[in-house]
Amino acid sequence: MYVVGLTGGIGSGKTAVSNRLQAKGIRVIDADMVARQVVEPGQPALARIQQHFGDEVLTDSGELNRSKLRSIVFASEKQRTWLEQLLHPLIRDRILQQLEESQSSYTLLVSPLLLETDQHLLVNHIVVVDADESQQLSRTRLRDNSSEEQIRAILAAQMSREERRSKADTILDNSGDLVQLEAQVDKLHQQLLQAASRESESE
Ligand code: ATP
Repeated sequence: MYVVGLTGGIGSGKTAVSNRLQAKGIRVIDADMVARQVVEPGQPALARIQQHFGDEVLTDSGELNRSKLRSIVFASEKQRTWLEQLLHPLIRDRILQQLEESQSSYTLLVSPLLLETDQHLLVNHIVVVDADESQQLSRTRLRDNSSEEQIRAILAAQMSREERRSKADTILDNSGDLVQLEAQVDKLHQQLLQAASRESESE
């Protein structure tokens, strides 16, 4: 089993990269999606969150009120730690389960928090997609219609570009257009297929 972790800051191009690899038949596990699944109604984690923070973190229909929870944990490191200690092991277990089920030549784990959590311990190769802050900002604004201030706050809370780059086995430069990104992704895909086949031969 050869696992490739893909990370990058907000609007750096993770989805653009993972969509291209998925189209080539690579199984993509999205850590953000898993993080939403573990707090769906009926999941034990949602009940724990309700017990801890009260009914105000639920919507009228019983789903997690994300913006409410986000504002609570943004204001308190203690509460943030409590939430992370609850969710991170559950997210990790589910990712592990999906990795075990994967049948593709290698599996891609896409995670904005790959390097900040112990998720990086699950991967054989770390890919960072990299763009400068002004590109992250303008592309995210075009995509989400969110304010510059909101995006800047997220950028400030994320790992610095330099630190992220220093942890990469491969850096994809997304400072150009999508065609330039795709050419790098295609080349990387060939390298990863070879690395995965070497790994399976050595087992
Ligand atoms: P997030 O972490 O916010 O989900 P992301 O890392 O997945 O973001 P993408 O959604 O892939 O980033 O890219 C952000 C936006 O920028 C998208 O609308 C995407 O189509 C666009 N984009 C990505 N790369 C380029 C590029 N090289 N040139 C122009 N637009 C791009």
